Amino acid sequence: MRPDPWRQSTVAAFAAMDPATVILMLAIHLLASGGLMALVWRRMPGAPGLGRWAVASGLFGLAYLARLVGLLQGVNLLGLGSDGVLLLAVLLFGDGVREFVGRAPMPARRVALLAVVLFGTEVAVAVAGGAQARYIALSVLLGTQYALIGWTLAVERRNQTVPLQAPLTILAFIVSALAATTLLRAVDIAVRGMPVVFHGTLAQVYYLYSSVAAVVTALTLVWMLLLRLNGQLSEMATRDALTGVFNRNGLVRALKQHFDQRQAAPLTLLLLDIDHFKRINDTLGHATGDAVLQGVARELTTQLRVGDFVARLGGDEFLIGCVGADQATALALAGRLHSGVGRLQVPAANGAGVAACTISLGLSAAFDRFDAWEPAAQQADRALYRAKAAGRDGVQSHWVTLGT
Ligand code: GH3
Ligand code: MG
Repeated sequence: MRPDPWRQSTVAAFAAMDPATVILMLAIHLLASGGLMALVWRRMPGAPGLGRWAVASGLFGLAYLARLVGLLQGVNLLGLGSDGVLLLAVLLFGDGVREFVGRAPMPARRVALLAVVLFGTEVAVAVAGGAQARYIALSVLLGTQYALIGWTLAVERRNQTVPLQAPLTILAFIVSALAATTLLRAVDIAVRGMPVVFHGTLAQVYYLYSSVAAVVTALTLVWMLLLRLNGQLSEMATRDALTGVFNRNGLVRALKQHFDQRQAAPLTLLLLDIDHFKRINDTLGHATGDAVLQGVARELTTQLRVGDFVARLGGDEFLIGCVGADQATALALAGRLHSGVGRLQVPAANGAGVAACTISLGLSAAFDRFDAWEPAAQQADRALYRAKAAGRDGVQSHWVTLGT
């Protein structure tokens, strides 16, 4: 078989690639990504991880630029200093990952201390063993850090929301592959010596892969932030700001999700309204009224079973979706909510006394499809009206009076 000339020339071109150009490309990618992340960070200072990633990316870029100067001019001190910056950059990158997945990031002093320990180790090895030992130590220290970050990503991935799992898996893969190539490089340098630090196939693969990883990592981090923000926005759009329970949008979404399940159990709606709530506002102030609404929402949430949900429809009116409930179960729940809220003692906002309240509840009949929720809510509303008319502080079902 005749050799493929195109393939031959590609391999030859790859092997002959100037290492300085490859490293320059990597440095530019890292500096550009860091700069862009810093710009986004200025507008979104609270975005988890972003600040550390911006600084880490910038430091990575600067370290490789310094290495380039060291490589071209043979200035060793600059090279050694750039190693310290690289070690610090990986620490910051890992810390940003920890912050993003919800682990506590390290205080700045601990990051600095760790960087000094890592750098000190490398310098000690370099002084004792020379240039070859220095590159082996650097690759081992970097590779181990990458491996730890890859491990954190792989473990924490499972604790994140479903949409975040894809980018976290990609990032775990990128960082783990970087760990593998970096550690492999340590072995290569140990076996074959200084010539393979900047030359040869593995060095080429290492710097090219790092360059690709820098671009893909930056995009993946931004993707992760967008998904996180998107989740927070849709959460905000479905939650009542005062009490944290669903608002009307959230209620409709919860109802849809419930009836989208393959074998959705029937639902019963419980509509409840605080009795004489205006009096609390009038006598103890609006802030106390707010605290009562929050206390009632908390009490309702703690009383509900898994799958049930609660929404504040506005003012002092709450709607509860009670899953799989026959009338007896729904009534028992209504009774528990009624007495639980009745026991609440909410301290007045001005410190003078406590607020207590009673509630009236109306129950719908059970229904088994999404379209039926509005008629069911009207049934519950009529029952609630009757509970108010019957003197408040009691429960009425859509078809029968149940006393107070
Ligand atoms: P009833 O027993 O007939 O329900 O009497 P009520 O005084 O509770 O009357 P209603 O339910 O109509 O009153 C609701 C009041 O809730 C009216 C409004 O001033 C107050 N309100 C609505 N939203 C808020 C809020 O976010 N915070 C506070 N503190 N009060 C609110
Ligand atoms: Mg009321």
